[in-house]
Amino acid sequence: MIERLCVIGVGLIGGSLARALRAAGAVREIVGTSRNAAHLQRAVDLGVIDRFDTDPARAVQGADMVFVSVPLGAMGSVFAAIGNALAANAVVTDGGSAKSSVVAAIRDAVGNIPSWFVPGHPIAGTEQSGVEASFAELYRGRRVILTPLAETDRQAVGRVRAMWEAAGAVVNEMDVVHHDEVLAATSHLPHVLAFALVESLARMSEQREIFEYAAGGFRDFTRIASSDPVMWRDICLANRDAILAMIDRFEQDIAALTEAIRGRDGERLLAIFADAKAARDAFAGQPATQPAQDGQ
Ligand code: NAP
Repeated sequence: MIERLCVIGVGLIGGSLARALRAAGAVREIVGTSRNAAHLQRAVDLGVIDRFDTDPARAVQGADMVFVSVPLGAMGSVFAAIGNALAANAVVTDGGSAKSSVVAAIRDAVGNIPSWFVPGHPIAGTEQSGVEASFAELYRGRRVILTPLAETDRQAVGRVRAMWEAAGAVVNEMDVVHHDEVLAATSHLPHVLAFALVESLARMSEQREIFEYAAGGFRDFTRIASSDPVMWRDICLANRDAILAMIDRFEQDIAALTEAIRGRDGERLLAIFADAKAARDAFAGQPATQPAQDGQ
């Protein structure tokens, strides 16, 4: 049981965790904080949080669990604001989509890697944002990756694991660098491609006609380009090296496909498409995949 949970950034990710823990009866009180009092009042009205304070240092007072779910670029200022205001028994964790940058941000803000900080990332989400988009079932059956460091207190890891399990998630642990490489491949590259494709088509002079005739395939492939631009700017800046490595690989593969089309090499095209279909079919058959949810 969490006595007092403080959610910093009550949007899709933080709001959904608050809702899930409340539904599970795993938390006694939930305090929210962010920059905008109107957003926080909306979270109170929706029953997501019990009360709020726009000052993060005041909001974390007395909280035994703190969940930071702001865009990656805002993590550093949040850690600097709360570093000296935490209760002695507080554990802090986060939901940021890249982990090396969050670890660097907390090291810069508090001067070391604190034992009470457990980096984390729920592999669940949608292209929506804000507290209105949050829902209690978001994490049910979904994976959460924790990336504890040598300095991290194992008891703190256990408390964060128990919190996510109460929200319905399946918890794994992973090394920080490995996490960022895996997510660059499975989430960050696909989002970059979706944004690039839609942006490319949107700049064509016939864009109205193109979007009118866009069918299911286009919708499926580009849904994630409706995701929040600030969040994705921050992810690309935070996980720059791993994303660039994936783009390099992808450029080689798209060049090979381009050559096969240019050379009318039907055999090569068939081989590439058959390989991709087999991989996608195998992945789609796995029980953990659910439509209209992303691991970002
Ligand atoms: P969101 O719905 O836009 O929520 C972000 C929240 O952060 C908002 O409530 C915003 O409220 C607050 N905020 C923004 N800047 C702030 C600042 N400087 N100080 C305090 N609060 C601030 O975004 P989200 O989708 O929940 O994403 C939150 C985090 O989860 C990100 O780090 C993202 O990488 C990660 N994540 C997202 C997904 C996904 O699918 N969306 C999946 C996994 C992980 P105010 O406007 O009131 O300040």
